[in-house]
Amino acid sequence: MADSSTFEIIQALDMHLHLRDGEMLKLVGPLTSNTFSGALIMPNLVPPITTKEALLSYKQRIKEACKDDNFEPFVTLFFKNDYSYEFLQDVKNDIIGIKLYPAGITTNSETGVASMDVEVLRPTLESMSKLGIPLCIHGETNGFVMDREKEFMPIYESIAKAFPNLKIIMEHITTKDAIDLLDKYDNLYATVTLHHLLITLDDVAGGMLNPHLFCKPIAKRPEDRTALLNAALKAHPKLMFGSDSAPHPKHKKECCGCAAGVFTSPIAIQVLTELFEKHNCLENLNIFVSLNAQKIYDLNLSNKVVKLVKKDFVVPAEYKYNEEVVVPMFAGETISWSIESIN
Ligand SMILES: [Zn+2]
Repeated sequence: MADSSTFEIIQALDMHLHLRDGEMLKLVGPLTSNTFSGALIMPNLVPPITTKEALLSYKQRIKEACKDDNFEPFVTLFFKNDYSYEFLQDVKNDIIGIKLYPAGITTNSETGVASMDVEVLRPTLESMSKLGIPLCIHGETNGFVMDREKEFMPIYESIAKAFPNLKIIMEHITTKDAIDLLDKYDNLYATVTLHHLLITLDDVAGGMLNPHLFCKPIAKRPEDRTALLNAALKAHPKLMFGSDSAPHPKHKKECCGCAAGVFTSPIAIQVLTELFEKHNCLENLNIFVSLNAQKIYDLNLSNKVVKLVKKDFVVPAEYKYNEEVVVPMFAGETISWSIESIN
């Protein structure tokens, strides 16, 4: 850090990102790739990414959408119970991990797994463990919406115990329960989003309904946010930044039957800087937003330095590409850090 009015983020990584496809990919891809060095890309397209062919062609489309930037898309497969060892061995070097969705729990997860029983999951998990492929999990049951993550904790425990050599990432954690579990098993890690460090359910539904803050897992209680924020601010070594930035077209957010997802890609770096500065923890931001993920996933990255300056930035009301329109978090509001240069 040069002085108190500038800050440099080095090799920023977003370890949970939805880039979608088609026009939406062309719109949102560059809004991450300009500031981030790399991102873990989620596979919940329609149909989901389950073959080597689909994987490589999606990676190619992402690279084309982000071609002006020095950016590495780390792609993932959509978990299936019946992947053969030979297939996983063949794709191992093309993927960073495999994402498991319980069926029907979030956007495009209808073909996810129907049972979270360890014995049902065993064939694929055993191969992944042997091959050293990390498992990323959307950890929610289909119970009462505020309790879904808490109810999933015994499932994380059963998998962590049954496969001690498998790296398991609890994706987008939202509760104190998940933070507490992190320290119980050596092979458990987690990502946390920007919005879950900032908001509670009150911000979504406490006053007038805010559809742009509606997401899954839903924002929780103040004590949950405090536990997440404390772990992020101290750069807990098993916790990584993963925005879960999940763009939906504006008309699918501002309607009856609002889609779940908060779009944070274009403001993530600036707001994280604002947040860590506010809590006097800027010295931990590069660890949280890059170094922890580099260690956990064993990544090698080319250099990219984002220089931020303490100067007001008015967040655009929306971002557009042809017919696609998305509304970012903090649309129309002023945040206190701006991007000065990217090298
Ligand atoms: Zn997600």
